[in-house]
Amino acid sequence: MKYGRSYNFSAGPAMMPEAVLEEIRDEMMNKDGSGMCVMEMSHRSKVFEDIIHEAEQDLRDLMGIPDNYKVLFVQGGGTLQFAMVPMNLMKNGVACYVETGTWSKKAIAEAKKYGEVKVVASSKDRNFLYIPDCSDLDIPDNADYVYICENETINGTTFNELPNTKGHILVSDQSSMFLSRPCDVSKYGLIWAGVQKNVGPAGLAIVIIREDLIREDLATYVPTYMSYKTHADAESLYNTPNCWAIYCCGKVFKYLKNLGGLEAMNQMNIDKASILYDYFEESKLFTAPVEKKDRSLMNVPFVTPSAEQDAAVVKATVAAGFDNLKGHKSVGGLRASIYNAMPKEGVEALVAFLKDYEAKL
Ligand SMILES: *Cc1c(COP(=O)(O)O)cnc(C)c1O
Repeated sequence: MKYGRSYNFSAGPAMMPEAVLEEIRDEMMNKDGSGMCVMEMSHRSKVFEDIIHEAEQDLRDLMGIPDNYKVLFVQGGGTLQFAMVPMNLMKNGVACYVETGTWSKKAIAEAKKYGEVKVVASSKDRNFLYIPDCSDLDIPDNADYVYICENETINGTTFNELPNTKGHILVSDQSSMFLSRPCDVSKYGLIWAGVQKNVGPAGLAIVIIREDLIREDLATYVPTYMSYKTHADAESLYNTPNCWAIYCCGKVFKYLKNLGGLEAMNQMNIDKASILYDYFEESKLFTAPVEKKDRSLMNVPFVTPSAEQDAAVVKATVAAGFDNLKGHKSVGGLRASIYNAMPKEGVEALVAFLKDYEAKL
């Protein structure tokens, strides 16, 4: 790769498109004749206002976000949203969660601080290696929302069909699949994503929320910063936002639009992931443990027959210049995160390496 860059299979922060990094480099010392870098710029300046408005508009175009949804740029990463969602949406104090792995478990634990949490489906019985049937969930009438983690980054599963929420609001953590495929926003009440997986630098979450869910009557203890209304009213400029991350994300939105949008991106992601999954089908050394119909196109876990062999393979990949293939410590094995910005050549090179490794055993 150019600049001696490596194929970085990290689950996040993760690769960004090289063309975007080059553009950012070119604007580093003087953005659009402003005489300064975006990092040095007032968030109240005209140049930055243009940056944030254009970023929002490009995101709206990409996802086809309906007019009755607000787009919010919020600090605190993904983790703050685990609390912000129940603090803002639990009106009756009851919410339903689907438990599919590490990140939904974190969301459940946090929501329990604010109200009653009903786990309406779980794949815990088989180690979170599949997405449970969500076609006929037992949802109480007074449930404020149904929550899913649409792509479990660590476990490597993804929802290919949304739950039947029986008229209740659907909330989705899309962090590790945001903008990887087309999305019908109108099916959700709220979508949120930490951007450092599939879009830009860490420290920013994007929240897409249906306007009627933005409440005025929050409990008085809810911090001002944690009310969606605060951010909606101030158009994400209530306080100093993460200007740099917003700028970088805006570049990625434009890049995706020029690439042909989310349909085109999805096709590329299907092609890339197939290269890996097809190999694991034929390999005698590696297996992909996730149930076929629920496999993520973004995070691809795989294992050898033993933990010792897993470790040996990880060591060999590092020596060969492939970064961050070690599986998360909670599940072991290996994991290749192949987000939008991972080039097809990177996946091909990895598979060629693993084939060669297997042949030499
Ligand atoms: C990484 C991740 C998070 C947490 O994001 P932070 O910005 O590190 O707080 C939440 N949900 C999912 C699905 C993730 O992959």
